[in-house]
Amino acid sequence: MKNLWTPWRMEYIEKETPDGAGCIFEAGSEKEHEKESLLLYRNDLTVVFLNRFPYANGHLLIAPVRHVSDISDLRDGENRVLFNMIRKSVEILRKHKKPDGFNIGLNLGTVAGAGHPEHLHFHVVPRWEGDHNFMAVLADVRTIPEHIENTYDQLLPDFQELLHSKKGKSK
Ligand SMILES: [Zn+2]
Repeated sequence: MKNLWTPWRMEYIEKETPDGAGCIFEAGSEKEHEKESLLLYRNDLTVVFLNRFPYANGHLLIAPVRHVSDISDLRDGENRVLFNMIRKSVEILRKHKKPDGFNIGLNLGTVAGAGHPEHLHFHVVPRWEGDHNFMAVLADVRTIPEHIENTYDQLLPDFQELLHSKKGKSK
């Protein structure tokens, strides 16, 4: 099998996130990070989560804080901050996971495969040569596997450093 971008498969997995109250991208509200919800980063405009059912180890979900479904609803400030966060996330994953490449994208609407169409979110998925069998191993996992917690602990300091290094700045 070749290395394919398969967002439908990814969203199918994501959809299996345990039902909580409300929107998964608003879990851990008020907090800058929360291991239970795999929240790595929160500022006024952006949140970063580790996907609970990852397509690959280190699979991140990056969303605006505002509950918006359409890319047209994003404000200029959100555009800038979201794209910047995607770039920073790639840098952090490169540092810790040393992937050979990335898939970065979003699915707009249920027909496009979005598991949570009501809240826009980008996927950042590190990829390695020969990693395409990864999900076959994890597809039946229902709890947070140890490796996700390890990855969370590994990435958290860099996201928190990012958060706090920006707080003192005016823009
Ligand atoms: Zn939401």
